[in-house]
Amino acid sequence: MNQHPHGSVLVVNSGSSSIKYQLVDPVGGAAIASGIVERIGEEAGVVKHTFGDTTVERTDPVPDHDAGLRTVLGLFDEVGPRLSEAHVIAVGHRVVHGGSTFTGPAVVDDDVIAKIDALSPLAPLHNPPNLTGITVARELLPDVPHVVVFDTAFFHTLPDAAATYAIDVDVAREHGVRRYGFHGTSHQYVSGEVARVLGRPLADLNQIVLHLGNGASASAVRGGVAVETSMGLTPLEGLVMGTRSGDIDAAVLIHLQRNAGMSVDDVDDLLNRRSGLKGLAGENDFRSLHQLIEGGDAAAQRALDVYIHRLRKYIGAYVAVLGRVDAITFTAGVGENDDIVRALACAGLEPLGIALDPERNAGRKKVATIVSADWASTRVLVVPTNEELAIARQAVATIEAAGLEGTSDESDPAPAVAGHA
Ligand code: AMP
Repeated sequence: MNQHPHGSVLVVNSGSSSIKYQLVDPVGGAAIASGIVERIGEEAGVVKHTFGDTTVERTDPVPDHDAGLRTVLGLFDEVGPRLSEAHVIAVGHRVVHGGSTFTGPAVVDDDVIAKIDALSPLAPLHNPPNLTGITVARELLPDVPHVVVFDTAFFHTLPDAAATYAIDVDVAREHGVRRYGFHGTSHQYVSGEVARVLGRPLADLNQIVLHLGNGASASAVRGGVAVETSMGLTPLEGLVMGTRSGDIDAAVLIHLQRNAGMSVDDVDDLLNRRSGLKGLAGENDFRSLHQLIEGGDAAAQRALDVYIHRLRKYIGAYVAVLGRVDAITFTAGVGENDDIVRALACAGLEPLGIALDPERNAGRKKVATIVSADWASTRVLVVPTNEELAIARQAVATIEAAGLEGTSDESDPAPAVAGHA
């Protein structure tokens, strides 16, 4: 039962206090099972596991990532599918920062771990918990290859002019200060899907991808190659986000430290957690924001205005970067679900060949949909992102390239995952 002859991939995304996971069929694309462990290290943990129609929730304490992953493996045994029968051929780990070191996915070994660790100063909130997850997963699932897939990798192709900050070159070089970009797995997956949906070769398309979730980023992709993106050294730069400021005059930091008695950590907290929609309106979820606006809340209206203004500036900038734009695509929680944001982002851009069809645009989109007017020269699409599937597929391609895919051989149904009970 639930055997996938070509194998399945366990995709793991470890945060500082959470582990999200999905067992993915990399060929058919289905999520076989999924779940999340939250509040690791707190008094009461929350563990949720879904397989088919069954969702099991636990609130036992989860002291650390090791305990969290053991709980997950126990739930696979208890609720299903048993990993020993699901023919797991790889574990794919999402890692936020690959710096200039990683331009693509890599099979995990001690050297790769050391390199990810060395990049921690660039992503102190993300890389260390990612590494913890990888370390415990390797211990608990020692008989399958583990592959790391980096959020930055798709953007390693950015031209020098797009990746370079105009600061002292020696300081920049010594401290790795440049634009890396993030959400790359999503931008890559979505731009590939656009080519498939339009039935055109990826190599022929100039695209703008707008990944609008709680974090948000824009990219310009020429012929499948990323040429510009809005996030920078860290995921703080660019668009207005749920709780992050996006672009800001760097002198604001200097001003606040000199004159408002704020420490480096205070400024970090302000820009990453108390800014964006939350900072402007007290709400970072668009569903609540629209409700507030309907009730006449001026701060919520202003937050939406600032968000849309920034988004439109980026669309305009990327039209200039690309020259000709064949497709603009909305994805992630806001991009897929919020027709108001999509309509406002594109309003009045007819002179650029961008126009939505209001009926096509209306409502939430669960499948890839073209929402532009037929006459418009730029196609506008909504494409649901699927980072887990993208990670699973990259993991499979990586183990195949490394000659490690032997366990997926149909003629050898031996479980790829050792007993872990
Ligand atoms: P993500 O980070 O991609 O999971 O996106 C999360 C965000 O998507 C939430 O903070 C909401 O602002 C937005 N979102 C989710 N569902 C909806 C919806 N039905 N309508 C509008 N926005 C939504």
